[in-house]
Amino acid sequence: MTIVPFNKPYMTGKELWYISQAHHAGQLAGDGTYTKKCHTWLQKKHDCSKALLTHSCTAALEMSAILADVKEGDEVIMPSYTFVSTANAFVLRGAVPVFIDIRPDTLNLDETLVESAITDKTRAIVPVHYAGVGCEMDTLQNIAQKHQLLLIEDAAQGLMATYKDKPLGSFGDLSCFSFHETKNIISGEGGALIINNSRFTEEAEIIREKGTNRSQFFRGQVDKYTWIEKGSSYLPGELIAAFLYAQLEEAEQIIASRLKVWDYYHELLEPLEKEGKLRRPIIPKECQHNGHMYYILLENLDTRTRLIEYLKAEGIYSVFHYVPLHSSPAGEHYGRVHGSMTITNQLSDNLVRLPLFPLLQFSEIERIVSLIKIFLEG
Ligand SMILES: *Cc1c(COP(=O)(O)O)cnc(C)c1O
Repeated sequence: MTIVPFNKPYMTGKELWYISQAHHAGQLAGDGTYTKKCHTWLQKKHDCSKALLTHSCTAALEMSAILADVKEGDEVIMPSYTFVSTANAFVLRGAVPVFIDIRPDTLNLDETLVESAITDKTRAIVPVHYAGVGCEMDTLQNIAQKHQLLLIEDAAQGLMATYKDKPLGSFGDLSCFSFHETKNIISGEGGALIINNSRFTEEAEIIREKGTNRSQFFRGQVDKYTWIEKGSSYLPGELIAAFLYAQLEEAEQIIASRLKVWDYYHELLEPLEKEGKLRRPIIPKECQHNGHMYYILLENLDTRTRLIEYLKAEGIYSVFHYVPLHSSPAGEHYGRVHGSMTITNQLSDNLVRLPLFPLLQFSEIERIVSLIKIFLEG
């Protein structure tokens, strides 16, 4: 029996060479040659004021929460159907995540529910581009502008995807990416903060460098390097950046091969959707996704549990996520729900993610789909 893992990190082949170059140059701390190359790549891609590598998307979200200056009791609107860091970053600063329901088509936060969740304590809206499919950014930008709220994109899954032909990550005042091993472009652990609103640029550099003006000092803009603000250490070392740069250089090809896998699943699963056995992902016309994830939605929790077991017995590893944050112990303690959570509760029970990585063979996809077919029709 051949085993199909859920994920197999893809390596371009240049990672170790670039790491050896950094090693050879004796550059190990952060903000060296490879970090700069990554910053330039990200800045060009997003046409932003500044891009900064971080240890993770979690770290970029934490920086965003500091930059947003959220205080005890302030509120931040976000979906409940997301990874913990979206909420946790703000909770660390004493803010209250206000969870709203998701759209049934994309599983992104439902933009039509945002305005009714706004109170005089609201400081920011945090859309999450689930599965690398863009949220309804025009509407969200308008709401943020009208109510003078910050827009912070959790674009952890969204690198190289677009909404109305503009890359995800280029809409928010601040945007956060992840290069975790499970994402499309990887460095093991890793992330980036994209700053589109230039009023945050200088402060972001200071927060990332332990609250010092080290970056300005090295650019010769100030003659003393000193502690001037609160901050922490959010910059990764050069070895991580060297690895990441090898991936960024091949980002187009990596995304293209993921999309091929995604499209083949989508094609093969169409008949089962027509029979009403499952639902496939829906991609709105305005969105070009990046093949981050292929999921199917089943009839109920029991079918989902049994399908995952059935595939596992055949050596195929599929997974589910997320436990909605509003029903997790910390979410209940620190957060608040606004409105009904019907869609979130229902879809989070029914969703299965299928194996998806660049080197997944078409023959393996055929086998996976035929097993799903046998299970659902049997
Ligand atoms: C992966 C992920 C994160 C966290 O990314 P890290 O780089 O592991 O910190 C945050 N939000 C979402 C939506 C994610 O998918």
